Amino acid sequence: MIPLPPAPGADEHVSLALLNTRVTLPGGRVVDELDSPEAATLWLVEQDLAPAGAALLEYCQGRLAELRGTLRALFSAQVEGLAPDPEVLDGVNRALTRVPSALLLRHDGDRGLHRVPAHPVTKLVEHAMAQIAEDAAALLTGESADAVARCAAPPCDRFLLRTHARRHWCSTRCGDRVRASRAYARRRREAL
Ligand SMILES: [Zn+2]
Repeated sequence: MIPLPPAPGADEHVSLALLNTRVTLPGGRVVDELDSPEAATLWLVEQDLAPAGAALLEYCQGRLAELRGTLRALFSAQVEGLAPDPEVLDGVNRALTRVPSALLLRHDGDRGLHRVPAHPVTKLVEHAMAQIAEDAAALLTGESADAVARCAAPPCDRFLLRTHARRHWCSTRCGDRVRASRAYARRRREAL
């Protein structure tokens, strides 16, 4: 099966990209892009959250998958209009604060004063998790918060940013499935 293109908003928001690394396909099969340390490393490198050549341990892969579960609970509460579980907020806040996320001040002859992220060689996964949590917190408190949606073509469970008020699916493929099932329901009603 051809991989789905990124859901709307997932290219701009790494938190959405992380949520969507696990998706339920039609038929119920679950695809997990983070199902091995190598796969999790590749994903972080692709997102520019880890330098090429980095290698995650299984423990780090597990932590990243755990953050994904926490964020799925947070985003689900948001789209359902519910208060998130306090443990979910604690999980996000731990990811936000475990490592310093401030840009450091440096000086060299070419550039003079400039700011750089703390180098993610140590605590690589913690730095990545802090950036993902920061993106999630900014997204859900920003002006796009109300545009966060879960794909309306079950069993697909990808999250997206709605670009039109009526678009509630993550891909053309899911949109076609919604339209086909609506047409089927209409034909059944007409046949009765
Ligand atoms: Zn979908």
